[in-house]
Amino acid sequence: MFENLSERLSGVFDRLTKQGALSEEDVKTALREVRVALLEADVSLPVAREFVKKVQDQATGQAVTKSITPGQQVVKIVHDTLVDVLRGEQDPGALKIDNPPAPILMVGLQGSGKTTTTGKLAKRLKEKEGKKVLMASLDVYRPAAMDQLAVLGTQIGVDTLPIVPGQKPVDIAKRAKQQATLGGYDVYMLDTAGRLHIDEVLMNEVEQVRNAVDPRETLLVVDGLTGQVAVEVAEEFEAKVGISGVVLTRMDGDGRGGAALSMRAVTGKPIRFVGLGEKMDALETFEPDRIAGRILG
Ligand code: GDP
Repeated sequence: MFENLSERLSGVFDRLTKQGALSEEDVKTALREVRVALLEADVSLPVAREFVKKVQDQATGQAVTKSITPGQQVVKIVHDTLVDVLRGEQDPGALKIDNPPAPILMVGLQGSGKTTTTGKLAKRLKEKEGKKVLMASLDVYRPAAMDQLAVLGTQIGVDTLPIVPGQKPVDIAKRAKQQATLGGYDVYMLDTAGRLHIDEVLMNEVEQVRNAVDPRETLLVVDGLTGQVAVEVAEEFEAKVGISGVVLTRMDGDGRGGAALSMRAVTGKPIRFVGLGEKMDALETFEPDRIAGRILG
């Protein structure tokens, strides 16, 4: 569907005279192509601009290596810079779950894949780290969402907090904490209610829950296919509730993954996991290399 960036850049450099080093003019021309490629991959304009500037500073004056073409060389610089920006300080898959029971708050818009991701993550914690996990749905608006989590729990062999109709989210959170403590759980995961759009009521509710349990991790689940919208959602959640990381879902789709770069650049928060399908084991630790390759096409 898209022309590959490497091919595009070779085209650009073929038209330029061969020189011993990448000149400012060569780099500028090449970076115009890079910017277009980033925008096509759904990176937001300000982020693409800033990124291109970073690459420009690095590329100008670099000696052209004999073994690769100038086009390949610029692609490599772009790739390495992408990985650099995308990589967080810590191991993305290492969740803060010492000092049990550790609360993990799952937040995000309705339909982002929050409940599915809660199940996937619980399964991963149980199977890969041998943790005893309790899941609780705080979605008092949609009884179907509560049932959905219970069904997932049965499917993956993870306990869910019994449903008590009529309880407020903050009270369910407190009950989850109590049960997790009494039951000797390592982790309890709170699947908060989502809305179609961000609104005050939703944010206040999440804030109340956050204050009641003091989560070790607050993971924002966003649909990786929604591009710029995902970035706006992340900014809002970071500003109002504070998040410790992001899970990008639907990365099995044909999106180009540019949202990952924008998200990282705009919020400064690490992407921790990516969702790669509907199945309970379709969750992987975020790999900057892989997304960089995908953004470059
Ligand atoms: P919630 O409203 O945010 O809790 O969203 P759900 O967890 O109910 O997910 C909504 C739909 O997206 C469901 O049909 C999920 O199976 C699907 N889904 C969730 N994560 C992924 C993913 O990573 N890839 C794909 N293809 N589908 C996903």
